Amino acid sequence: MMSRNVVTFHYTLRDLRGEVLDASLGGDPITFLEGAGQIVEGLEEGLRGLAAGTQAKIGVPAAKGYGERDEAQVQRVLKALLPIEGDVQPGDQFRAGSDAYAPIVTVRGVEGDELLLDANHPLAGVDLEFEVEVVAVRAATEEELAHGHAHGEGGCCGGGASEAKEGGGDCGKSDCGCRG
Ligand SMILES: [Zn+2]
Repeated sequence: MMSRNVVTFHYTLRDLRGEVLDASLGGDPITFLEGAGQIVEGLEEGLRGLAAGTQAKIGVPAAKGYGERDEAQVQRVLKALLPIEGDVQPGDQFRAGSDAYAPIVTVRGVEGDELLLDANHPLAGVDLEFEVEVVAVRAATEEELAHGHAHGEGGCCGGGASEAKEGGGDCGKSDCGCRG
C-alpha cells in the first residue's frame, strides 16, 4: 500500500504569460493530505516525492488544473433573479447562491435585463505554472487518513473539532472536510 504524506508548501501561481494569479507567500503555506483531492491533480502529481526545502516549477495543463472550459456553462439569466444589487459590469464575479459552496460565476456580458453568466471556474481552460517551495513533508497520521484531510498543530480543524469525537466524524464547521 502506498503511504500517504501530509505536505506543506508555498506557491506562486502564474499563467503561461507570466502573470501572477495567486500566491501563498506573505500568508500561511498550504497543507494538504496526498490523495484527498485537496489541490488540483497536476500540482499534486508535481509535488509528489519532493523533499522539504525543494523549490520547483510545476507546469499544470488546464485539464489537470481547473479543467477545460465548457460553453454549456455560459447562460443568459434575468438579473432580477440574482442575489446582486446595483451596477454590474462584465468581469464582475459573485457567488450564484447564498451558501459557501455555491459556484462563483463571472459576468461575460450585460444585455438589457439579462446577464450572460459564465459558471466555469475562472481558471478553467488556463494552463498554469506553479512555482513551489516545499516547507514540510511528513507521514499522515491514522486520524488524518480516517478524516480524509490534514490536521494542523491544533489537531482536527485547528482544534475546532471536539476531542470527544476522536476517530472521525464532524467538527461542525461547514467548510471542513471532516463533515460526514
Ligand atoms: Zn479531522
